[in-house]
Amino acid sequence: MRALRETIRALVILSVVAVVGLVGWGYIRNHPQDAPWTELDLAQAPGMFTGRKLAGLTQDFGKCRALLDQAGVRYAVMPARDGEHCGYADRVRLQPGGASAIRFRPAELRTSCPVAAALAMWDWNMLQPAAEAHFGSKVTRIIHLGSYSCRRMYGRDSGAWSEHATADAVDVAGFVLADGREVSVLRDWKGKGEKAAFLHQVRDGACELFSTVLSPDYNAAHRDHLHLDQAERGQMGGRACR
Ligand SMILES: [Zn+2]
Repeated sequence: MRALRETIRALVILSVVAVVGLVGWGYIRNHPQDAPWTELDLAQAPGMFTGRKLAGLTQDFGKCRALLDQAGVRYAVMPARDGEHCGYADRVRLQPGGASAIRFRPAELRTSCPVAAALAMWDWNMLQPAAEAHFGSKVTRIIHLGSYSCRRMYGRDSGAWSEHATADAVDVAGFVLADGREVSVLRDWKGKGEKAAFLHQVRDGACELFSTVLSPDYNAAHRDHLHLDQAERGQMGGRACR
């Protein structure tokens, strides 16, 4: 009797494991971006590990370029720049006309490849749907304050070097819509209007794609821009979203 109970118990546990396994396998098949071991595809909707995979591209410029090519993003490779604390080997200039129609103001934006890849995904998956929902319009330009800058964090004389020192960050000050309207982080972050709702929504969306996202909610130094970077903190490393 006891042996029979044990056998039934074992069978029940096995069946539960099998069902959970099958459901999990089916889920990952339909949501490959939610598994840590699947290949990144910029054209897929972001999943749980997309942000970490994007930051991981810092180690592999060739793969990052291949992913941009595969997704139809147009870009030009910029010459490398050497330095003790500053410089880059993976800087690209995003160009409109491919899969991403987004332009920039000022017109030139040169960032590390992982930042560029995340910007393309931000455009497709967050900026355009959010602009459609809040304004019934499209985002045509990202207003930015630049990427590369050889400096330490907060421009201090000592301490950690900024991700800007390797072009692995971009500061976004606002957006221009197809109907000519502008959304400004400095002017529109606060309040209950559509512009504030849009800005908070795209900030939250950026947190899925960038390792670090700092907004006016974080501190006064970020009152006029969203700081987005791809600092590498490993597969299970922490991510900052403030
Ligand atoms: Zn910044």
